[in-house]
Amino acid sequence: MSNNPYETFIRQLENGAKVLGIGRDVVEVLKEPERVLEVSIPVKMDDGSVKVFKGWRSEHSTALGPAKGGIRYHWNVTKDEVIALSAWMSMKNALMNLPYGGGKGGIRVNPKELSDAELERLSRGFIDKIYKYLGPDQDVPAPDVYTNPKIMAWMLDEYEKLVGRKAPGVITGKPIIVGGSLGRNHATALGGFFVLREAVKVKEGKNLEGMTAAIQGFGNAGSHMAKFLAEAKVKVVAVSDSKGGIYDPNGLPIDEVKKVKSETGSVVNFDKAEKISNEELLILDVDILVPAALENVITEKNARDVKAKYIVELANGPITPEADDILNEKGIFDLPDILANAGGVTVSYFEWVQNRMGYYWDEEEVDAKLDKKMTKAFKEVYEAMEKYKVPPREAAYVVALRRLVEALKSRAVV
Ligand code: NAD
Repeated sequence: MSNNPYETFIRQLENGAKVLGIGRDVVEVLKEPERVLEVSIPVKMDDGSVKVFKGWRSEHSTALGPAKGGIRYHWNVTKDEVIALSAWMSMKNALMNLPYGGGKGGIRVNPKELSDAELERLSRGFIDKIYKYLGPDQDVPAPDVYTNPKIMAWMLDEYEKLVGRKAPGVITGKPIIVGGSLGRNHATALGGFFVLREAVKVKEGKNLEGMTAAIQGFGNAGSHMAKFLAEAKVKVVAVSDSKGGIYDPNGLPIDEVKKVKSETGSVVNFDKAEKISNEELLILDVDILVPAALENVITEKNARDVKAKYIVELANGPITPEADDILNEKGIFDLPDILANAGGVTVSYFEWVQNRMGYYWDEEEVDAKLDKKMTKAFKEVYEAMEKYKVPPREAAYVVALRRLVEALKSRAVV
């Protein structure tokens, strides 16, 4: 079975459409991205040579507003992956009731092999190629895997130079000093934490205290999630990154692990815990499993061995459709990516709103607004689960598709 994320999206779309009884015309419109830019970016390397990198920006749907979604730097990025990620953003933004369509970008590069100066030239070069299609009312990028606020600031600066005016709302996930929002850095994880809290409340009528968790990926999403879970007295027994994982049944000291990761580049250098592989981490006997790295990590090969009661998909597309069926049969409460990791784009939306007002909120206000949005979205998904007797992912698609269909109908596209 193919693990092409675009095919996964099509299946999820068809499933949601079937539940709602949506016509073929809507499905056909949403199957195709509205626009995909493919560019090559020549970069002068520090040694004087020139390297050419490939990049894409996909705008999947703008029925609900400007395209919105991150830019990923990864050595395996493909056009299909970028299109699928942009389609998931359309669904996510619709589910969260944000005034945005879906977009995503990617450059095929291993950023770890580039110097800071090379990375800056690459980031500015990408904007040079696509800036005509970007804008606060057109298409608004943000960080994703291996991109960060520093890169967003270079991109903002390049865009503003090219258009000849300040436009902080063209990109989100910026450093605070150039218009970023407080709370954006931890927003993806905090949003996931809020929906997990609600799920445990409706399923078991209790809070998270005393539960155990394993987290795959210790970057922005995964490391903040580890912190929030530990603060809620959840025992985080395992974490991992691209080099492997660490395990301690008594719970890992998250701050210490964070320090080791930032000083040495990997959690595996934390020597007061057992080493485990990324594959072993996924099937640990824990209450909560958090995939927070890349796509397709839970497949029909390992889904039967997953023991967690709750999955929080901080990563986009970590579970294949075949695995999804198996997890549903097992009665695992799987909080789908378009809900579980929507905290990032929600605070990106708050950042964009603040940029447009020129008035900035404090962190407590941002976190409280995020809690309200995430809790509301969870309740809508849960209502759809009950009403249509479907698992959480299908229910999330139902809520999102209802809004997208209404927008497409209002615009007389369908
Ligand atoms: P990041 O670059 O900060 O961290 C990625 C982490 O994944 C790193 O720890 C890296 O070592 C690890 N990793 C990479 N390859 C791996 C592998 N093969 N096995 C195990 N670990 C691996 O990225 P991030 O922003 O934390 O994004 C992680 C996931 O969350 C992605 O799927 C992304 O699309 C999703 N996401 C992020 C945001 C956000 O705001 N940052 C929002 C929504 C969704």
